[in-house]
Amino acid sequence: MNVRWNGQFSCFDLVAKSDACSRVVVTVGDIEIGGSDFVVMAGPCAVESERQLMQTAEAVAAAGARILRGGAYKPRSSPYSFQGLGVAGLKLLRKAREATGLAIVTEVMSEEDVNLIAEYADIMQVGARSMENYALLHALGRCERPVLLKRGLTATLEELLRSAQVIAMSGNPQIILCERGIRTFETATRNTLDISAVPVLKTVSRLPVIVDPSHAAGVRSLVPVLARAATVVGADGLIVEVHPSPDRALSDGDQSLTFGQFRNMMVDLQPYLALQKDARSLRPQLLVAEGAEW
Ligand code: PEP
Ligand code: MN
Repeated sequence: MNVRWNGQFSCFDLVAKSDACSRVVVTVGDIEIGGSDFVVMAGPCAVESERQLMQTAEAVAAAGARILRGGAYKPRSSPYSFQGLGVAGLKLLRKAREATGLAIVTEVMSEEDVNLIAEYADIMQVGARSMENYALLHALGRCERPVLLKRGLTATLEELLRSAQVIAMSGNPQIILCERGIRTFETATRNTLDISAVPVLKTVSRLPVIVDPSHAAGVRSLVPVLARAATVVGADGLIVEVHPSPDRALSDGDQSLTFGQFRNMMVDLQPYLALQKDARSLRPQLLVAEGAEW
């Protein structure tokens, strides 16, 4: 137990790591997040059309993704931007699941939409801008779907875990944490990927942790290398934006990978994932040697 961190975070008893509790494995059908697999979620920022979604679903499934992402309700920086297709988008996500067998993760922005979206989604995504929407978090605590909780733009890890504790206190322990970059003084990237968040969260909490390299980078050329970094620091998976024609995307095109780039990224990650597996089998010795926690 790390004295500093566990002293700081142990008040979040339902999500904090303790000797008495094993790690949370979030289960979606036959997919386990937080177990031994590295789970990749991929798809467009927003569901735009049947053709766009179906093509993307087929392409990411063929490249090894297990979960399809796609927003039907979009929190946009500008009120004049595309706001999402709403229920029509949810119906397309269901269709894509039927066609490919991929599970679905999609964002919920309001507590009023929780029951509706839970009919279509396998995982309920809380966006960075909603991390402290406590009415939403309470409603998600009562819904019987796993929750993907993204770190707020300016949220500390303590604040992220506080939000996770709120969901768990309302009855839902199936929570995945997501590091998606935070706002700093740096402007070369859209956000600053806080790579140390991954090992810190894995040390202090019992929840699975994934990385979103797309919203961290803001540009597609950086996405594969940040994904690689995520595997090496022990993330349990990724959520990545992919689009059939990123330059024509209605949102986040600059950071979306083409199908070919996504395929290449998945191949590029394999040796790093194999290294992680080896490291994991050596970990019991390392734990003794270094007092490490994860
Ligand atoms: C998204 O996943 O498309 C999104 C809006 O992400 P974030 O909430 O992390 O900005
Ligand atoms: Mn996006």
